[in-house]
Amino acid sequence: MALIVQKYGGSSVADADRIKAVRDRIKRTVDAGNQVVVVVSAMGKTTDGLVALAESVSTTHAQTFDEIAAKEREIDLLLATGEQVTIALLSMALQAVGQPAIAMNGTQVRVVTEPIHTRARILYVEPVQIKAALALGKVVVIAGFQGVAIDEKTGLPTNEVTTLGRGGSDTSAVAIAAAIEADICEIYTDVPGILTTDPRIVPKAQMLAEITCDEMLELASLGAKVLHPRSVEIARNFGVQMCVRSSWLDDAGTVITSPRIGTGSLETLEVNRFVEAGSIDYDQAKIALLQVPDRPGIASQLFKSLAEKGINVDLIIQAVQETEGVNDIAFTVPKDQLHLAEVVTRSLEIGASSIAVDTNVAKISIIGVGMIGRPGVAAQMFSALAASNINIQMISTSEIKISCVINASDGETAIAAIQKTFEVPVQLHQRNIGLTENSEKSPSVRGVALDRNRARIAVQKVPDRPGMAAKIFEQLSEQNISLDMIVQSQSDRDVNEIAFTVAIADMTKAETALNQVATTLGYGEVSCDSGISKVSIVGSGMIHQSGIAARMFSALADTGINIEMIATSEIKVSCVVRDHQAEEALKLIHQEFNLSGDSIIEVPSALKK
Ligand code: ASP
Ligand code: MG
Repeated sequence: MALIVQKYGGSSVADADRIKAVRDRIKRTVDAGNQVVVVVSAMGKTTDGLVALAESVSTTHAQTFDEIAAKEREIDLLLATGEQVTIALLSMALQAVGQPAIAMNGTQVRVVTEPIHTRARILYVEPVQIKAALALGKVVVIAGFQGVAIDEKTGLPTNEVTTLGRGGSDTSAVAIAAAIEADICEIYTDVPGILTTDPRIVPKAQMLAEITCDEMLELASLGAKVLHPRSVEIARNFGVQMCVRSSWLDDAGTVITSPRIGTGSLETLEVNRFVEAGSIDYDQAKIALLQVPDRPGIASQLFKSLAEKGINVDLIIQAVQETEGVNDIAFTVPKDQLHLAEVVTRSLEIGASSIAVDTNVAKISIIGVGMIGRPGVAAQMFSALAASNINIQMISTSEIKISCVINASDGETAIAAIQKTFEVPVQLHQRNIGLTENSEKSPSVRGVALDRNRARIAVQKVPDRPGMAAKIFEQLSEQNISLDMIVQSQSDRDVNEIAFTVAIADMTKAETALNQVATTLGYGEVSCDSGISKVSIVGSGMIHQSGIAARMFSALADTGINIEMIATSEIKVSCVVRDHQAEEALKLIHQEFNLSGDSIIEVPSALKK
């Protein structure tokens, strides 16, 4: 007998017939001897309809903060009705076939959240009511996406209805699974599982039998369409086993494994630390190629040659430069491979104006799934280093990790600064320790993601001194702008260039914010480019293999696609390319890693734009 949480999304409960199909599946699960807790979304596109209704009766012009807050409260009250319709209907449907069931909304269960409307985070879920109903042999049907606000003064739940943000019912389901210590949380949706890439671009994208939570989070732009990232975050922190399956099929779907032992506190489910660990790696040496020609094939030639010699390149960054037509490329390698790496690099004729080698460097990183969607974390890290007067030489980021290359002699100070700021231990990085055995068997590339919704912003001539990155990213964090793929390259002059990507919708806001302080901070022009896309490969197996990045670069180079920016983390390599070449880039990379299957997986056209 297992304790199973099943979550059914809007399309799976879109009408009475679909609700009956869901009922049958639940009944079968119970008849097989399991205890079942069901979490549901609103029927079909109900929530969209309610949002549209709200807009049609309320003013749309900008209001005061108080007016906005007042409206958001009512929006939650309105949107929460959608899920309540589904729970009542599904529970009645179960009762009608002789299966005892009880419907409960977020307030009745006590899914307790922050006192914030329209985007509350879950603090805890009261397991008592759910367990009592299960003990009576009932199926418990719970409304997803909603909760009840905590009273910050008394610490007790109020009667104020909150919602978690669009798509939040996945998060409800996993939070409930964590609270009742369910054996598995099954997410039923209209896709058969997680695919290797977007099937609308690559029809022969394949279904993954398995993916880790970390990979899933790094694939955010691919996976977010199927699963709310916050749900994966909880699964990872609490060791909840999840799977994604189609409610139309009996296929096994994709299992999302959570190799970590849960570290979170059940009292603050979603508001755990943003950053969960830090690490420092002194076994790094840096090679910087300055002013390499900006044309297809350069990165490929360089990293292919390094891979051929078995050199394990760690961090790679490539940034644009203010001088037209040239790039800076910098990368790090383990110290014992530096000599070989340097010989290889110097032997290539790729037209760099100079090649600089530095063995006196260390890489300090912070990692944590809570960084996703919290714009201030990068700024906080840079500020912490700046406050200790540490100069940052290179920056590379991914969804769940930020790494900075600094002077090795600043290592101890940096550790202290990070420990104090994030209240996490900073461990000495040891190669290949702390990885699960599984990652060795993991494919080096699990999936390929394309994010077209990105724009690049480059800040030129940033004085090379402590505090600059901090100041720049503080400006953005104040505007609540989330950014990713920050790349800072180092040049031979006393200025750096910092480039990063933001959502297209935030581009102008970011540009304005940065231009406002350009003279005060002493940097040069801020340039924006919305004609770019980001392609990424993700796979935990790449830690154990050299040459994965090189293969990605070559796949692009062979077809003449220019790479404009590169950033890497342990399990991810991202490249910025021109938007009009992005789909082709995705196809080429998917093919390079042999990710296609033989069959075409049917994905309902209803699935996400
Ligand atoms: N009904 C909510 C929405 O459409 C929550 C969900 O379906 O996950 O956003
Ligand atoms: Mg959903």
